[in-house]
Amino acid sequence: MSDRSRWVLGLAAALLGASVPAAAHHSFAAIFDSAKPVKVTGTVTRIEWMNPHTWIYLDVKNDKGAAEAWAFELGSPNRLMRFGWNQDSLATGTSVTITGSRARDGSLKAAADKVTVTTDRGTYTAEKLIVSAGAWLPELIGETYATPFNVLRQLLFWFDVKGPVTPFLPANCPIFIWELQGPQQAIYGFPAIDGAEGGVKVATQQYERTTTPETVNREVSDEEAAAMHAKYVAPYLPDLSSRCIKAVSCLYTATPDAEFVIDFHPESKNIIVASPCSGHGFKHSAAIGEALAELAEDGKSRFDLSAFRFARFMK
Ligand SMILES: Cc1cc2nc3c(=O)[nH]c(=O)nc-3n(C[C@H](O)[C@H](O)[C@H](O)COP(=O)(O)OP(=O)(O)OC[C@H]3O[C@@H](n4cnc5c(N)ncnc54)[C@H](O)[C@@H]3O)c2cc1C
Repeated sequence: MSDRSRWVLGLAAALLGASVPAAAHHSFAAIFDSAKPVKVTGTVTRIEWMNPHTWIYLDVKNDKGAAEAWAFELGSPNRLMRFGWNQDSLATGTSVTITGSRARDGSLKAAADKVTVTTDRGTYTAEKLIVSAGAWLPELIGETYATPFNVLRQLLFWFDVKGPVTPFLPANCPIFIWELQGPQQAIYGFPAIDGAEGGVKVATQQYERTTTPETVNREVSDEEAAAMHAKYVAPYLPDLSSRCIKAVSCLYTATPDAEFVIDFHPESKNIIVASPCSGHGFKHSAAIGEALAELAEDGKSRFDLSAFRFARFMK
């Protein structure tokens, strides 16, 4: 890592009060002010591997060109090692950028081991941030890393039954996924779980037309329902009528390989991105939740998450 000329370390750093002994464990909120973010670029002059916090010292030129000596607090040596750091990771003389929260007393000391999130309701600080915002994820993780995520509008329809509902009741009709012969398209759906009134759910998936959560048309038009019935319902489920009882739209967030992204953000070991996406994440929720807790607590998971790394899209 030391060959890199510039680093971005964490999202939040905070200055440590001079009155607090450097080796003491302390309350973040008592010492640092997450509402006062700082961003500092400088040259590493020294690193102290000590408990309970590692310290990085920087020579910085401030806005007026004057020299300043800053000290940034990181996690314990043990924690940094779990995230792949060692004593050679950051060489003296390396230029780094550290962002974070300023100490309440304004001294030139800092802790770079926290994440600060500012929302319209307030500012929150934590050691780890898990971003799992579904279709909203691409706009939260930075343009460079958003590229693999395509947001896609999907449509779901409930069609009326032509004759008696009995053949479509759950006792007689399964939940189905039907890989159609011919069209490069499957249809899937549910039996008439709400009886004749509710109709039979039939839907497809599309991966061609992208959208965004802000611009997507949430309404489903009569034309879309008619086209769905003509192409994918009438030829395969002829006992369903063209009367569309209900239609809704939803969003998939899909990657090019139709898999997930469950990984640390490429620019911060404090931020974990979870996109159990591509239209098939729900059934894995329990395992993904466990994996995310392990990544946040231990820096690694007992599950093999290698297929879900950002790196596969960045070659
Ligand atoms: C029609 C349809 C059918 C599907 N069928 C299946 C299926 O059969 N099996 C299956 O396994 N999966 C299925 N999926 C996929 C499954 O729903 C997704 O994989 C799963 O929901 C993804 O979970 P997530 O937590 O990443 O995102 P989401 O479930 O989309 O959750 C993201 C959450 O983040 C919130 N959020 C966004 N931005 C912010 C913000 N700035 N601040 C606070 N909150 C925010 C959103 O409101 C939302 O609640 C289907 C999806 C769709 C749309």
